[in-house]
Amino acid sequence: MADARDTICALASGPPPSAIAIVRISGPRVREICASVFEAGLPAPRRSVFGRFVDVSRETIDEGLGIFMPGPKSYTGEDTAELYLHGGSAVIDHALDAICEFPDTRLAEPGEFTRRAFENGRVDLVEAEGIADLIDAETRAQKSLALNQLDGALSAQYAKWREKLVEALALLEVSIDFPDEEDAPDETTSPVTNVLDSIRHAFIEALQDDEVGERIREGFRIAIVGPPNAGKSSLLNRLARREAAIVSDIPGTTRDVVEVRLKIGGQIVWIADTAGLREAGDAIEAEGIRRARERAEAADLRIHLRAADENVDFSEAGAGDLNVVNKSDRKAYPAEEGVFILSTLTGDGLADLESAIADIVSAKANRTIAPLITRKRHRLSLQTSLFHVEQALDLLGRGGGAELVAEDVRLAARQLSSLVGEIGVEEVLGAVFSSFCIGK
Ligand code: GDP
Repeated sequence: MADARDTICALASGPPPSAIAIVRISGPRVREICASVFEAGLPAPRRSVFGRFVDVSRETIDEGLGIFMPGPKSYTGEDTAELYLHGGSAVIDHALDAICEFPDTRLAEPGEFTRRAFENGRVDLVEAEGIADLIDAETRAQKSLALNQLDGALSAQYAKWREKLVEALALLEVSIDFPDEEDAPDETTSPVTNVLDSIRHAFIEALQDDEVGERIREGFRIAIVGPPNAGKSSLLNRLARREAAIVSDIPGTTRDVVEVRLKIGGQIVWIADTAGLREAGDAIEAEGIRRARERAEAADLRIHLRAADENVDFSEAGAGDLNVVNKSDRKAYPAEEGVFILSTLTGDGLADLESAIADIVSAKANRTIAPLITRKRHRLSLQTSLFHVEQALDLLGRGGGAELVAEDVRLAARQLSSLVGEIGVEEVLGAVFSSFCIGK
């Protein structure tokens, strides 16, 4: 990692040109920089002042507002400042160059401001992820998920579980300390069992969430499946309102999985057009079909597409899947309960299918048991923690020694500590912060 003692600066607002650009500075030299760059000198803390910004040779950079926010009550926990400039690239470059003239001062790396906030205890790792998610949020659902994480609700949930584990550990320590007391095992192990059992239940409940949090954050996955030439690519293009997939009347044209990202029902949705499920003509097609099957199985929703002028058979469709008959312009298909009839050529019937997809996706998103697990990193930690809790319960059930049980409970608690970044594994921190944008 770059030197954490440096003073860092970056453009914190969007790419130029823009009406206003915000340049942010953080670190030990902020006072010195402000005293020089703000023509009127270092302003009073947390007061916005209007004036001229100048470089070291007193050449004007621009004029605008500036704020100085002393640490530790700042975003990063260090002295920070923000310059509000006109959002042109020459202005921004001049400002950043002027700031970087100061010793031990350089451009920030992606996520470095938030990393400092984390290192200085202003946010934990889960909250820091919430900040990144809020910036990336495109849907209301993503935004409220991110806010929930950012304001500590998810961290509080993890902390509560960790406290319970510590409570179990304390109970175990009593029986480790008094191993010879006759009735110690009964009196001590049953409360431990109770505590661990309640944690086990809470974990299982949280993990059995159909990955809703991850889906809201990353997008729901829909697969269009059906025989070659049913019109899968045409349907995808219709839904995407652009030519994303190759449409051709040569069966087996879609050799791999083509995916488009759309917003449907207020949610991000990935719709995949999969290779026609039929006997493969060659090895490449066979691979396409294998991937199609895999993608379809992993999907949150499958659209089974058949052509009206071919054999219409929905026997492969599962409960909750959508059954759709295409090419109604070519051959009329009798109305049937639970079957959408449409033509991707004329557009007839498409709106009904789209609103059905929207309803399904928003119903899935609204099936919340807040706070939700929002990413794989959390899920893996909880799964590992659950594994140790179950191991501990198993040992208890078999009359295992308190020391051994305690070891598992400790490992379970450790997982939750690393989840919020209390015990930091450098790679985890690196991975989390490198996904941030510069200036955050
Ligand atoms: P896929 O193999 O399932 O992806 O099918 P395509 O989307 O490539 O379409 C196969 C052929 O059917 C193409 O020639 C399309 O133009 C045609 N097609 C697709 N949808 C319709 C439709 O609604 N009506 C008619 N008449 N032809 C269609």
